[in-house]
Amino acid sequence: MKQVHNFSAGPSILPKEVTEQAAQAILEFDNMGLSLIEISHRSKNFEKVMDEARQLVKDILGLPERYEVLFLQGGATLGFYTSAINMMKEGGKAAYVNTGVWATGAIKEAKLLGEVQVIGDSSDKNHSYIPNFEVPSDVDYLHITSNNTIFGTQYQSFPKTNVPIVCDMSSDIFSKKFNASDFAMIYAGAQKNMGPAGTVLYIVDKEQLGKTGRKLPNYMDLLNHIDKDSMSNTPPVFAVYASMLTLRWIKANGGLEGMEVRNNAKQALFYSELDRNSAFKGHAVPEARSWMNATFKLNDEASAPEFDKLWKEAGISGIAGHRSVGGYRASMYNALPIESVQVLVDVMKEFERTKG
Ligand SMILES: *Cc1c(COP(=O)(O)O)cnc(C)c1O
Repeated sequence: MKQVHNFSAGPSILPKEVTEQAAQAILEFDNMGLSLIEISHRSKNFEKVMDEARQLVKDILGLPERYEVLFLQGGATLGFYTSAINMMKEGGKAAYVNTGVWATGAIKEAKLLGEVQVIGDSSDKNHSYIPNFEVPSDVDYLHITSNNTIFGTQYQSFPKTNVPIVCDMSSDIFSKKFNASDFAMIYAGAQKNMGPAGTVLYIVDKEQLGKTGRKLPNYMDLLNHIDKDSMSNTPPVFAVYASMLTLRWIKANGGLEGMEVRNNAKQALFYSELDRNSAFKGHAVPEARSWMNATFKLNDEASAPEFDKLWKEAGISGIAGHRSVGGYRASMYNALPIESVQVLVDVMKEFERTKG
């Protein structure tokens, strides 16, 4: 295979050993003479995958007993509604912070269920910053999006409040140290920083569930999934397996602390070049920069063809920006090696040197 530096925003890079082991399991799983994707999800062989995946999340995050871990379907997009219907009381209200496209999606879904107070909103500056806000004390929960994948902003610290916090962590879960027990609910689509597309992780404080006074559709009732050990229906077996392999890799590489060291080095390398280089400017304000998704533009957009030629020749893939920001986006998820960031930085230097 040719060497490619994969900066894709999602689905995105996974550790090489994970894709190799996952590929092997498609051919033959657990010495069964069968493929992972042609056995019963109720077999002992698959049950132990689900058990290990759930346990790894508990271990890596150091979750207290009252937390449960689920691997469901529907992506984070269904999570917008699922999180709300499990937390919003009948006739209740919730506070949301609008920090981008995904947060906007979450707000839209929550409005189907009750009153939504948007207590902070960064849309006036195309979501280039994280707004300040005060959390009202009379809401059922606060919803935030920890990392704004499209705009390249990230909370540098989480709000302190007595109100239960629900967080969409799709694009920065397991990327650095944080206190998971500060949250009532975390949900994260696997395909940014944990595995292939097809499963969404829920981390829930059981004690916060079952208080809404609502009748919930079976698939959206997180208590149902907890009761059935995340096997209420056929789980997305391949996505769960590959996520389990990635979680093993995270644990073997120092857990959250190890990921933080790795990701901090990458972001420091990238942003110091961005700040130094006269040919580029960032989209996100420095105080809100994401370690996972760096958004940037050329000062002279007319020279894009030259820059594009350089990065393509260097084997870089996936840095075209999202249509709502333009420019470029370098996603530097856990599995991306720092060597790839160095290649990008070298290309930026080369571009600055040759463009004039
Ligand atoms: C990608 C993404 C989503 C949407 O995830 P799907 O799994 O495609 O539904 C939601 N929130 C954030 C923060 C994302 O990055």
